[in-house]
Amino acid sequence: MVDYVNIFMARLQAKNPGETEFHQAVQEVVESLSLVLDRHPEYRSAKILERMVEPERIITFRVPWMDDQGEIQVNRGFRIEMNSAIGPYKGGLRFRDNVDLGVLKFLAFEQVFKNSLTTLPMGGGKGGSDFDPKGKSDLEVMKFCQSFMTELCRHIGQFTDVPAGDIGVGGREIGFMFGQYKRVRNEFVGVLTGKGLNWGGSLIRPEATGYGAVYFAAEMLATRNETLDGKTCLVSGSGNVAQYAVEKILDLGGKVVTLSDSSGYVYDEAGIDREKLAFVMELKNVKRGRIKEYADKYSSAQFIPVDPAKGFNPLWDHKADCAFPSATQNEVNEQDAKNLLKNGVYVVSEGANMPTVPAGVTLFVSEKILYGPGKAANAGGVATSGLEMSQNSLRLNWTREEVDARLHGIMKAIHRQCVEAADTYGMKGNYVAGANIAGFTKVVDAMMDQGVV
Ligand code: NDP
Repeated sequence: MVDYVNIFMARLQAKNPGETEFHQAVQEVVESLSLVLDRHPEYRSAKILERMVEPERIITFRVPWMDDQGEIQVNRGFRIEMNSAIGPYKGGLRFRDNVDLGVLKFLAFEQVFKNSLTTLPMGGGKGGSDFDPKGKSDLEVMKFCQSFMTELCRHIGQFTDVPAGDIGVGGREIGFMFGQYKRVRNEFVGVLTGKGLNWGGSLIRPEATGYGAVYFAAEMLATRNETLDGKTCLVSGSGNVAQYAVEKILDLGGKVVTLSDSSGYVYDEAGIDREKLAFVMELKNVKRGRIKEYADKYSSAQFIPVDPAKGFNPLWDHKADCAFPSATQNEVNEQDAKNLLKNGVYVVSEGANMPTVPAGVTLFVSEKILYGPGKAANAGGVATSGLEMSQNSLRLNWTREEVDARLHGIMKAIHRQCVEAADTYGMKGNYVAGANIAGFTKVVDAMMDQGVV
């Protein structure tokens, strides 16, 4: 089987050169699936894995727009339609300068497994652009979003492909894109999720990814008869996922001492309480400021700027019980993983996608800490997007309590599936293997039923 994995990966790398994040995401999954492929030789002869790593469709397009100085800018737009075996393509749009094919293919690949775990009928996709809204005026963001959607709108649809937000794409960007879709296509349908409440959005969607990552941590702790009450938590990022992870940690009695953005992090030994969290939400969602301003406002906090020369992120080097990486991929390197363990962290629940490098994942798994990989722990976001799609189809709005209860139920179900799949294959407590195997099983069964497509 080691040979099979090596040959498979060598072919994938040769066929997709330079797409390092994509290689990383596939390697982790293929390694976890070794035992499944041993027990099911029919999957190998049906070339299931070979089909799963080849997107059903990739769309790339030019996105021209004019900035506030009257200068023409040209960005590149993408949509990866990865796998539609169990439902329409579903997955976010990312607007960030480092977006390229390798990043989006890794995200789309992970999305297939994640969406399968949610128990809802959603295939996997991902898209975005190398455009970064940071530092742009609202008018520039609107012009970009309109140009982006003018092309994208011919490829997506409520029964085909339903994008959502991700890094750099929040309520403002979804609004501009939805407006343009409606204008060009002349139809008011649930073609995007993360919409505003008065035009088809769902209560709890903004909260869902962060809340879900905390619910997942609570489920993992429950296996040891523990709760989050009184636990000290490290959170990275200060965007959508991080903000609502902090809110739910506070609800469950935990204490959060860090938040970050791409310029550095704040450490607040006194804890980030609800008033301070409200300040962060205003700072990030309205004023679009930098996390450093938190330390300017609160004397209990210190700001530590990013220092690439260090080789590790000191955010992960504080005494704590739990960590919620909620910024971006590969933000926890091997040294960071060692520092987390050294500082007593024994719960890691990933709000971000693939935030831990493979060597760090190996350490967490071998040390048998409660490690919830992103494709399971952060699936609450897309699950609630699925609930938004259901409400749009029903033309009904569920209450906050109803959506939250469904989200909570889905996170419990995801946790249960991971535990059961890991147990079935003799890897008790290994949520990485559990998530990959459980996510794979449902998709592979559908692919086998549907023939060679
Ligand atoms: P936001 O754009 O709202 O926030 C992203 C945060 O991460 C910001 O604080 C940003 O800092 C920071 N960040 C981004 N890139 C880097 C980087 N290269 N280095 C350091 N910090 C960085 O995005 P979200 O909160 O929506 O997404 C965060 C993560 O969660 C991503 O991995 C995303 O894929 C994942 N995710 C999101 C879901 C959702 O529903 N939104 C669903 C599932 C997963 P700055 O302000 O400086 O850019």
